[in-house]
Amino acid sequence: MSKYLIAGNWKMNTNLDEAKKITDSLHSFIGFDSEVEMLICPPFTHLVFLSEIIDLSRISLGAQNVHYEEKGAFTGEISNEMLLSVGCEYVIIGHSERRTLFGETDEMVNKKVMNSLKTGLRVILCIGETLEERESDNTNSVLETQLNKALLGVDTTINLKIAYEPVWAIGTGRTASVEQISETHGFISNYLNNRFGTNTIKKLYGGSMNSENAKEILSIPNVNGDLIGGASLKPENFISIYNSALELC
Ligand code: PEP
Repeated sequence: MSKYLIAGNWKMNTNLDEAKKITDSLHSFIGFDSEVEMLICPPFTHLVFLSEIIDLSRISLGAQNVHYEEKGAFTGEISNEMLLSVGCEYVIIGHSERRTLFGETDEMVNKKVMNSLKTGLRVILCIGETLEERESDNTNSVLETQLNKALLGVDTTINLKIAYEPVWAIGTGRTASVEQISETHGFISNYLNNRFGTNTIKKLYGGSMNSENAKEILSIPNVNGDLIGGASLKPENFISIYNSALELC
């Protein structure tokens, strides 16, 4: 198992040509390293094409969302099976933008997590508090509730990763401090240990990561990788973050 997972969430950015250029640049900079896994999560429309041109032994492919039903009359939705069939290994579930902009509830997140794990996808479950919740000292209880609800009924953790993404740090240029990340990742780690009796579930940090702060954040105990938005669209920044992880191995 790799030591770090460096994941890029491209969100609703790039046309196919731009996506190809980013992917080509990533290929030309990274070799194969079993200690650090690189993952990109482009828009759905690019997955088929990218899975054909990506060397999947060097760069893993993931989706940014999925529906929890297997198939049927769900116009506009994408299933786990569809993702697997185009070479996707990972799926991001419960990103704060899905929760706040698209009304995704903890119950929906739970159904998605359950079904994706059942189908064999690797799940990056996102959790995180708002600024108001942090300032009123409710961070841990908010995270605990999100974890309780999202993981209800989950009994296998092999393919489960958790991304801690403070909502106030996403896309704002404001990163959580080393103390905040350290404290919160420690809390999540204890929760997972108590709940599943294992310390092997990867915990990623996300929120305005960049090439300057990557090494410091990745060296915090219980931080096993990053989920990166903006900086993952710039290959030189994404690779620099990837290299920071390599240096720590
Ligand atoms: C994200 O959307 O998961 C994220 C962390 O975005 P950014 O890196 O741009 O803050």
